[in-house]
Amino acid sequence: MNRQATEIRINGIVQGVGFRPFVYRLAVQNGLAGFITNNSKGVVIRVAGDASKIKSLIHSLKEEAPPLARIISLDQSDATLPDNITGFSILESEAGRVSSTHVSPDIATCRECSREILDAADRRHGYPFTNCTNCGPRYTIIRSLPYDRPTTTMHKFNMCPECLAEYRDPANRRFHAQPNACGICGPQLTWYDRDGTRLPADDPLAAAADAIANDKIIGIKGLGGFHLAANAFSVEAVAQLRQRKNRPCKPLAVMVKDLPTARKLCLVTHEAEKRLTSITSPVILLYKRPASGLADNLAPFIEELGVMLPYTPLHQLLFAQPETPVCLVMTSGNAAGEPLCRDNEEAIRRLSSFCDGFLMHNRDIHTRVDDSVVRIIADKPRFLRRSRGYAPAPVRLDFDIPPILAVGAELKNCFCLARSRDAFMSQHIGDLNNLSTLDFFEETLDRFKALLEIEPQYVAADLHPDYLSTRFALELGLPTVRIQHHWAHAASVMAEHGLSEALAIILDGTGFGPDRTVWGGEVLQCTLDNYRRLGRLSPLPLPGGDMAARHPWRMALAALHASGIRDSRAARHLENIPAKDRKFILDMIAKKLNTPLTSSCGRLFDAVSSLLGIRHVNTFEGQAAMELESRASAALGRRSLKDSGFFTELGEMQLFHLREGLQEVSTGLCIHSIISRMTAGGLSTNDLALFFHVFLVSAFGNMIMYLSKQSGIQTVVLSGGSSQNRILVEGFFDFFAKTDLKIFTNRQVPANDGGLALGQAVIGGTNVSSDSHAR
Ligand SMILES: [Zn+2]
Ligand SMILES: [Zn+2]
Repeated sequence: MNRQATEIRINGIVQGVGFRPFVYRLAVQNGLAGFITNNSKGVVIRVAGDASKIKSLIHSLKEEAPPLARIISLDQSDATLPDNITGFSILESEAGRVSSTHVSPDIATCRECSREILDAADRRHGYPFTNCTNCGPRYTIIRSLPYDRPTTTMHKFNMCPECLAEYRDPANRRFHAQPNACGICGPQLTWYDRDGTRLPADDPLAAAADAIANDKIIGIKGLGGFHLAANAFSVEAVAQLRQRKNRPCKPLAVMVKDLPTARKLCLVTHEAEKRLTSITSPVILLYKRPASGLADNLAPFIEELGVMLPYTPLHQLLFAQPETPVCLVMTSGNAAGEPLCRDNEEAIRRLSSFCDGFLMHNRDIHTRVDDSVVRIIADKPRFLRRSRGYAPAPVRLDFDIPPILAVGAELKNCFCLARSRDAFMSQHIGDLNNLSTLDFFEETLDRFKALLEIEPQYVAADLHPDYLSTRFALELGLPTVRIQHHWAHAASVMAEHGLSEALAIILDGTGFGPDRTVWGGEVLQCTLDNYRRLGRLSPLPLPGGDMAARHPWRMALAALHASGIRDSRAARHLENIPAKDRKFILDMIAKKLNTPLTSSCGRLFDAVSSLLGIRHVNTFEGQAAMELESRASAALGRRSLKDSGFFTELGEMQLFHLREGLQEVSTGLCIHSIISRMTAGGLSTNDLALFFHVFLVSAFGNMIMYLSKQSGIQTVVLSGGSSQNRILVEGFFDFFAKTDLKIFTNRQVPANDGGLALGQAVIGGTNVSSDSHAR
């Protein structure tokens, strides 16, 4: 016989996050009979009993779900339950399709696990692979769904009786914790020399700590890949690492022992502390304190330093070694431009020229995931890179789109696989200009398709014909939507905030325009169906095309030429550049040889950085712009941009004009204003750097005010690579604060090309489905 029951179906991140034991405890507390299982619909609960108790259970499901769970939908319906079921039980997962279930990202060690590994009385004392249902590896070890131990890279370890008892006890924190392990039954550390010879170290952690303390560089196998680690207080160790990685200036991220150490070395704001200690544990950019004792070649010429806390037990135990310095360089273990290393043998092969030793283990990494990087701007965290801790959690859309793949851009590539209201952004893939990164792209895409069970029917790609991502898209043989780069940037913000129409300020490096010129400092009026270019930076010559991006001094000459400035004092900082090189470039510009025009904002930053003598040659992408921002930030201090004085000074001037049917920010006036102030003397380089930022905010801000009056649109979106610049973003927030306009920026994906695929997916999805799918 059956009796009346209620079926509850839950969709979202509900596997591998302690959801089933949570439901078990609630059901038992409420005296309900029934079961819970995972199946094609996500999680299914069937319960019979007192109606008010069932109501109370549903209320608790919504209000008290475990920290990692994310309920996206919860439906209930009438059902029946056999009379002979009197207790509550957890049934094995039903194999088969789990198409609407999401995959949890990897999660930093929880407080309880941290306590256990440091507690001499605990059976997991000193065990580097400790985890529970609230923390530990997920996405990086899952081979297929449903998420159960046999489908993870933990399948080769058999749980000891004690671990198994925890795993089977619904009241235990490790109930159904798939990677559950201990020192008796789980993965183990090993220590290798640089040639891959396994060394008989009693304690691999002590060996690693000793090597680091002696200024050696070691490779550490972590959660989503290998890190290269070195003593962050040693100028020699950092210099050695830079030399071996051929990375002369690019800032290196560090991992610090704990929060108090972070505070000692850097300024940690309340918002930064929240993010540092969160379950996603990203790298956060923090302002360095003077005289911290850190090596001054960690992030030269930049005020900030990328800092993270230990996010696995392995990292924590390494810092617990007495020899280990309290701050370590922790940079991605890869050759420049290549994806992270994953396997032990691969690491030894590819990294032995960088490392003096390897701290390895035998838990396999199935999927590689880099560290995420976050910068706090206008008191809110913004992604510079969205990867570990976030991928593959979706960005929720407020309308349905058909199954679509958006392939992203060329640099900082991430792709997006979207279906109905979920846009799944991949982890950081990298620069798609070499074959190993393209392999990583394809491998990750295959995994996404399989794990999330999405078979795209459409593909969205950039207009640029030479992007490897575009070429890849065109070879798929699916209906393809080609989308202008800066429109996609704008749409990424619109998708995040549910906006249907906006005026967009896109401050970016370069993107392909439909007129086949190089766009990059754009004002667009957009919906997700269409866009119109209303304004731009007045174009500058781009001598040598892409080469100009590596040589800001070329842009400095281009800016002077375009502004009609012939005064030799204007170019006084360029005297270090050999005269014959300067002449060669000036000839190219005058004769328009291999010199397209560009409205790029990134190149204008380059030009100004070089004109002010800050940076003439970039050793990594965006260097000149970052150093220019750092100088402006030093001049601004804690003031708001509006209080800098330059705002009032520029308020009198007309900073944009109409030309060729477009509103143009007057680049020529900008350069003239900077040069005249520079040659007049009186202002420091830092002040001039600040002046340039104020000019851009005033010019674009006033242009938007004008266009808003004309169009009636009061929603503004800001995106593009240059809008990772804190001074610009906070300046625009200030500018619009006292107006009727509302400004929105990226919060869930990066403003740089790493967030582009989200915009492509929503534009593509909207344009292929305007007939069949409700918006
Ligand atoms: Zn835990
Ligand atoms: Zn065990």
